Amino acid sequence: LKKIFIIFIFFLAIPILADINHIFIFMKNKILTSNFCDYRNDHFHTGIDLAALDEDIIVPNDSEVVFFNIKRKNSINYGNGNFVILQDNKNNYRFNFSHLKDDSFDNKKIVYSRGDKIAVSGNTGHSSGSHLHLEIEDIKNKLLLNPLTFLNIEDTRRPRLIDIYFITEDNKKISITDPRNYKIEKNGKLFIKCMDYVNNSEYALVPYKITVYIDGKKTSSLMFDHLTSNLNNFVLNDGRDFSSLYINNEKNDFFISNFFSLPGLIGFKVEIEDFSGNILVYKKNLIVEYKKENEDAKIK
Ligand SMILES: [Zn+2]
Repeated sequence: LKKIFIIFIFFLAIPILADINHIFIFMKNKILTSNFCDYRNDHFHTGIDLAALDEDIIVPNDSEVVFFNIKRKNSINYGNGNFVILQDNKNNYRFNFSHLKDDSFDNKKIVYSRGDKIAVSGNTGHSSGSHLHLEIEDIKNKLLLNPLTFLNIEDTRRPRLIDIYFITEDNKKISITDPRNYKIEKNGKLFIKCMDYVNNSEYALVPYKITVYIDGKKTSSLMFDHLTSNLNNFVLNDGRDFSSLYINNEKNDFFISNFFSLPGLIGFKVEIEDFSGNILVYKKNLIVEYKKENEDAKIK
């Protein structure tokens, strides 16, 4: 019986250990300042930004350097600055560490073990303050992953809702978070303006998931778990690219879906969730009542 018990414990321990391997402290002191899929003028932010001044960057898995760039003296500051790409061949992950401090990286070292220091966070390249840009690629499935999957960022704060609104076919904006608005008279586009905040950071971050329910039925869902590369364009798991999500060209202003509904009273609900599972719920009953313009014309 003792043997069986030990075997049982052994099998229980494997998945738990595997999970711990995924969560890693890349740097000791850091502040999450920009999330995965954040608005960047004409493209998605494909990683996360961790503000950190002269912090040691620690390698999360046994891996080797597959590419690096070291800025030469007096060269133009653009792009990712000094950066290094590490590949974990066992788990098929590729880690990109960017904006590294000058001379903080040994360009002759190829093989790194979990826990080794690789470089120091800096402000090189297109960067407006010392930070680490961290990008994680799943090379087997050709996906850019949300790096929060690998980090333990303390977050007990709920996302914040700014506005839920419709832009109707005739270009009117109807904010449904305004208590005076409870009627929808035209089809249109549904937008949600919202953000997440984590502990110890006042930066407005992209939440993890936005779900819309009508009469209890899920009608649309937006999730920032990974990006796929599609003809040099990154797309979300519902196939949407940057310009079809941020159609208003505004940070934290998400186009959710086109809105059509049968006339009548509808129960409208939105759930905004962050990576740690904190959820904000918004509910409102709406009356959908389309004006019959054609019939009015006939009467005249
Ligand atoms: Zn970045």
